[in-house]
Amino acid sequence: IGLSVGFIGLGNMGGRIAQRLGGAGVEVRGFDLDQAAAGRVGAVAAQSVASVAGASTLILLSLPDSRAVERVIYDDDGLLARARKGQIIVDLSTAAPASTRGISADFAARGAFYLDAGVSGGAAAAESGTLTLMVGGDEEALEHAKPVLDRFAAKIFFLGPSGSGHTTKLLNNFLNAVALSATAEVMVAARAAGLDLASVLDVLNASSGVNFATLNRFPRIITGDYLEGGLSNTLMLKDVTLYVELLAQLRVASLNAAGPIASFGLARALGYADAISNSVVDALGDISGG
Ligand code: NAD
Repeated sequence: IGLSVGFIGLGNMGGRIAQRLGGAGVEVRGFDLDQAAAGRVGAVAAQSVASVAGASTLILLSLPDSRAVERVIYDDDGLLARARKGQIIVDLSTAAPASTRGISADFAARGAFYLDAGVSGGAAAAESGTLTLMVGGDEEALEHAKPVLDRFAAKIFFLGPSGSGHTTKLLNNFLNAVALSATAEVMVAARAAGLDLASVLDVLNASSGVNFATLNRFPRIITGDYLEGGLSNTLMLKDVTLYVELLAQLRVASLNAAGPIASFGLARALGYADAISNSVVDALGDISGG
């Protein structure tokens, strides 16, 4: 592939993507605040961000939020200080587009490329290499990175200049959040009404209420399989908050965010902060009926 690959942030998503790359024969040099993470996913353990920067021509990031991304980039020993001409950084995190655009400009000033690549598909798609990527930034740099990205993404969309990928990701995730929180509420109500949950899902999936959560989440959730490894309630709340901030910047009225903010905020407050966001149904159940 002609690229030496570094990876920073080896959590639920990053860890699985790095492992997938390793399985495809791509050697990955990985760094995470959790020192054991690299070994767990079969990556070469790097001791610092700086050592990843020095050894890699392509660096993938999968970090919780823009704050973590900015730290990795702007710290004295961060990626920007070590940026080299032609180096490509692909940010797979879900992050604030305004932050992303600033970072991209700073790398461009050093002759390096910063691509924002929102990721969709969750843990299972990361393992099977069937993620969807929504990319913003320099299209030629994307072409250079593709031989690596192709090994974990089945669909790669180029959306336009820096920030376009992360913006598109926030739009998608908002719909995902609405569908999940609304479906959780409906399923708690169905249970309270004494309905058979599998039958209700069959009806929804054959009717106009069908959505990603009714199709792909709840058939498993009602059997007790919460699909661990997916986005936590904390990160889901982050995504919706970023969406609301984005709409404020765009001067577009955001009228539908109150439901998911309340639902995932409730889940966080009731002790489900780090649990997969599918557990929002339990939080709603906790405060319902009796
Ligand atoms: P996670 O919390 O499981 O992983 C984040 C990792 O980053 C952790 O291992 C943490 O130790 C590490 N980290 C944090 N700060 C760091 C730093 N300064 N230096 C090095 N490592 C650091 O989160 P995740 O679920 O893997 O999600 C990662 C990103 O991908 C998030 O932005 C999330 O919104 C996005 N995302 C997640 C999913 C999903 O289904 N889990 C899907 C699409 C996108």
